[in-house]
Amino acid sequence: MKTIGFACTSADVPLAPYSFERRAPRADDLVMEILYCGVCHSDLHWSKNDWGWTVYPAVPGHEIVGRVIEIGSGVTRYKVGDHVAVGCLVDSCMKCDQCSKGEEQLCREGNTGTYGGFDRFSKDYTLGGYSKHLVVREEFALRVPDGLDLARAAPLLCAGITTYSPLKTWNIGLGSRVGVIGLGGLGHMAVKLAAGMGAEVTVLSRTADKNDDALALGAKALLVSTDETAMAKAANGFDLIIDTVPVKHDINPYMPLLDIDGTLVIVGQLGLLAEPHTVPMVLGRRRIAGSPIGGIRETQEMLDFCAEKNILPDCEMIRMDEINHAFERMEKADVRYRFVIDMASLEVA
Ligand SMILES: [Zn+2]
Ligand SMILES: [Zn+2]
Repeated sequence: MKTIGFACTSADVPLAPYSFERRAPRADDLVMEILYCGVCHSDLHWSKNDWGWTVYPAVPGHEIVGRVIEIGSGVTRYKVGDHVAVGCLVDSCMKCDQCSKGEEQLCREGNTGTYGGFDRFSKDYTLGGYSKHLVVREEFALRVPDGLDLARAAPLLCAGITTYSPLKTWNIGLGSRVGVIGLGGLGHMAVKLAAGMGAEVTVLSRTADKNDDALALGAKALLVSTDETAMAKAANGFDLIIDTVPVKHDINPYMPLLDIDGTLVIVGQLGLLAEPHTVPMVLGRRRIAGSPIGGIRETQEMLDFCAEKNILPDCEMIRMDEINHAFERMEKADVRYRFVIDMASLEVA
């Protein structure tokens, strides 16, 4: 089927309107009309080839909410009219030990990304949610729970699950002490989700500027990471620190904040860090870990949790043709806290 989206054709040009074909639905596919798509920092990295593996033309977008408009003959989970969502994955092998556990993001054969992946059958290059339509296997569509605001639900599909999954992996609950580095799209979700689970949340920030925001989002406190006295006083005070910073940075100041057996989990940066010092790790049995999004079952659990607790991202709605300006602002961290594209602003040619 013909559809339209926004794509970039090389690393140094802005995104522009782009007409392309989505595959005809297979038996287990559904076709969705995309209503909203969140703007993730990865979209920006991807468009600019920051990771070195972008293939152009590239259509970013993996925080997708929409409505089912057509289903394949074998689809049983969804019907036309249902509100569904798609995150960073559109397929996996569905057979390996990880897929069998519901950890499709860790598929042994490699998962198929919503953009930048290769369709397992046609070998076509996948194109993301900055578009009017998406065709996806029903197993990789999530149900948007009734009552969850459709526009504001979009960023849950990446920012939400990326921060929810480590909170579950490290058993965060009532009274857990959680630190969050970086108060952007991911960080603000980490604060809301951890607080929703009953944790005591502290935002770690280089300045006190975001103090009021941190408290409004549900944090108990903001700790200024450049204040050596305050940092020394906070030593051994955290069970888990979620590090959402999406660029190369220095984790050394944060490691002593972890209690024995505490973990600093990186969810933002793909690439190098400043050289880590091993003393706090070795002497305190502290860990540095990473975590990529979450599986389909956990993503559904996160959506249901957010609906039950009324947890939603803080969003700024934009038109599709405002995306390049939104990218510029996102690079300067000038967004509170996630841009969401209203796809009604994109007309099918
Ligand atoms: Zn993302
Ligand atoms: Zn697999």
